[in-house]
Amino acid sequence: MESGVPESLWLVESLLNSVDVESGQDDLNSLPRFRRWLRDHGRGPAADGATEADLTLARDLRDALRDELSGGGDRVGLDRLAGGIALAVRFAPDGRAVLAPAQDGVRGVLGEVLAAIVRAEHEGTWSRLKVCSSSTCRCVYYDRSKNGSRRWCSMRICGNRSKTRTYRERSGASPTT
Ligand SMILES: [Zn+2]
Repeated sequence: MESGVPESLWLVESLLNSVDVESGQDDLNSLPRFRRWLRDHGRGPAADGATEADLTLARDLRDALRDELSGGGDRVGLDRLAGGIALAVRFAPDGRAVLAPAQDGVRGVLGEVLAAIVRAEHEGTWSRLKVCSSSTCRCVYYDRSKNGSRRWCSMRICGNRSKTRTYRERSGASPTT
């Protein structure tokens, strides 16, 4: 997978890719795994206090955001989830007003994710975070192409796979893989 995601969207991309559709591996499928994911992301205090309810919220938010990026999102559901996570306006040392989490723990980490999305929206980078069009891959990647029209996380792997499949379908050849 070619990531190349900007620093500001790193946590967002990492949360969205905490499930691997191809292998079925999911870092958010149990509390111990979720705690490890949080620790791996430098969120030790959030990991220590994480509850089953936090895990459910994190997974629901991740899945709703993935649906949103896929274009098939339920915005009412996403709004409801995002609305339950408190954000506050803070003033950075240089005087800039920024959105920041208003809570500690897992809700704070999810608040960081939402604040980063709002910032990315203003910077024009949110629309470049996409779900790979390959139905088997579905990984989230950052589209660095000039016109923002990339459809696959990797042209080399998923793009070619899809092109080969389309070619086979058009030519009527039976799939070999
Ligand atoms: Zn892909």
